[in-house]
Amino acid sequence: MDRAFVYMRSLFFLASFLVMGPIAWAKPVITTRYEYYDIGGSTKQELRDQLRKVGPHRGGETVAYTEQNISYNYQTGGMGACGVVSYQVTMAIVYHMPRWQQAANSSSPLAQEWNKFVQALQIHEDGHAQNARDTAQAVDKAIAAIPAFSDCRRTKSAVVVAAQKAISQCDRLDTEYDQKTMHGIKQGSTL
Ligand SMILES: [Zn+2]
Repeated sequence: MDRAFVYMRSLFFLASFLVMGPIAWAKPVITTRYEYYDIGGSTKQELRDQLRKVGPHRGGETVAYTEQNISYNYQTGGMGACGVVSYQVTMAIVYHMPRWQQAANSSSPLAQEWNKFVQALQIHEDGHAQNARDTAQAVDKAIAAIPAFSDCRRTKSAVVVAAQKAISQCDRLDTEYDQKTMHGIKQGSTL
């Protein structure tokens, strides 16, 4: 019987604000990169053992996960009332994936199976990456909707509350996605 692995994501939340800076309205900056961990083996069981041993774990038998690092900065100001005059949301997405070098130059049944497994992992993690993009858009929209207050401190706290609310709502997207896909199992990510 095939063994299933679970995949997790993480959300690191950073917030900062700029007191001064150029006034600019910009779309969220979203970057994507990969971090691989290499495994070895020549049988399926060895690969499974390696995944279990070398994988990122993260509280379970996680073999891949998508890290989401969101940050934003903003500037407040205005005449009479204090509003957000510029801001920038940034989302850095990092895919953590296994790599079995031998599969790249082989057409063996095991290599084919491995490649299929990794493709399914990618499909699953792409869903998390899309949630990360949606999170960045939601935070962007939430900050854009902040009204002006008489006191800049109120404006700043409104930004933080709105951004955190948007982030926690999006956090649920990942939980629901993992429930729906059984952490990728329903998308074929088993080896
Ligand atoms: Zn997942």
